Amino acid sequence: MVEESSNKTVGVLALQGDFEKHLSALYEVGVNGKLVRTETELLSVDGLIIPGGESTAMTKLIMTFALEEPLTEFVKTKPVMGTCAGMILLSNQTDSDSVIGFGAINIELERNGFGRQLDSFSADIPLEFTNGNPFHALFIRAPKILNTGEDVISLATHDGETVMARNSNVLVTSFHPELTDNLAIHKYFINQILLSKENLN
Ligand code: GLN
Repeated sequence: MVEESSNKTVGVLALQGDFEKHLSALYEVGVNGKLVRTETELLSVDGLIIPGGESTAMTKLIMTFALEEPLTEFVKTKPVMGTCAGMILLSNQTDSDSVIGFGAINIELERNGFGRQLDSFSADIPLEFTNGNPFHALFIRAPKILNTGEDVISLATHDGETVMARNSNVLVTSFHPELTDNLAIHKYFINQILLSKENLN
């Protein structure tokens, strides 16, 4: 459950991909969730989750729905979580012109970077903020983080590679936390970022 009563609402970008599962996770955590498809809906939420899916398809839909500029502004100041394709969209560099990178978190990555044989796999990864308790992480054609900036903290690694990271307001995972019953990562986003003192006003 959330640490303090809150009337904040978290949006889930619902253009493509795994948005319903994130909405369910928010419900389980006990925070208001709302699907976001328009600028008006975006402006009505306090934070945003960009789900996994296909970053090229999501990029096209962001353009179609005229969300590029509103999202660019939103991610500069508001709490945002990006999982898998969502992490790609929040990164500052991509290896493809067909994918938008909003530059909300200072990471460079490679799409599908875990390699063809390992298109999908799962791994129990210890999370820094749960005293190293393992989280069963599902990786599906996951992006690989190649470099992180100085303002970026690694929160989990797999085989020595960072697979979860944050800066002050932005949380990203290479894997899909919404596809397990474990709510630790959604709770971390809500309690440590959305409801952190800096964002309470
Ligand atoms: N490989 C996908 C992309 O490049 C991401 C996969 C995912 O979100 N599960 O967008």
